[in-house]
Amino acid sequence: MLWRNNLNILTDNLIFINQLQNFDVLNESILYIRFLFGFRSKVWIKWFDSVEELQRYVGVPIPSWVIGTIYGKDILIVNYERWKHKNIGTLEELIIHEFSHIVLHSKLRSSCPLWLDEGLAVYLSGQINNFALDAFNHVKTDVYNLNYDDEVFYISSAKAVKKLVDSFGVNSIIDRMLILESFENDAIFGRQQVKALLER
Ligand SMILES: [Zn+2]
Repeated sequence: MLWRNNLNILTDNLIFINQLQNFDVLNESILYIRFLFGFRSKVWIKWFDSVEELQRYVGVPIPSWVIGTIYGKDILIVNYERWKHKNIGTLEELIIHEFSHIVLHSKLRSSCPLWLDEGLAVYLSGQINNFALDAFNHVKTDVYNLNYDDEVFYISSAKAVKKLVDSFGVNSIIDRMLILESFENDAIFGRQQVKALLER
């Protein structure tokens, strides 16, 4: 059985479909992201019963904390039952997050800096609202230097994206991302510019 929806998101896994609880938020966000980036391609969701199973599929080591990733234009997700009690957001948020990565990777001319890739996914998925407000006061500002090993990586990246959106608007941010050849020295996305924005 194929999942019937108007999102151009496909899956043939019934267990996964039954784990979805909020179609409205999924609908709204996926259509909005498609519109923002002009992204129309079909995307498949593949469901794995464990991170080990997912790792076997992609054939490269995956950290044990991972609950979803992308593989070309496929979204790979770990069974929601395995992580729903961990307080790390909803299944819908995870799908929107991974979908954002697929769109970014396929639409950008140059490769997206890691902080912007993750920050935008956390922002667009609504996962940014899952952080404690107080945590936003303890972010690092040199976001180009951060990676997954840093415990404030996601929140710092998301805060940087939020500040960019608040300052310039989501449409102009994304329109600029779509044509940029290089981010690090850009007048908006540049290392110094983002640092200054976060320190303001
Ligand atoms: Zn991500």
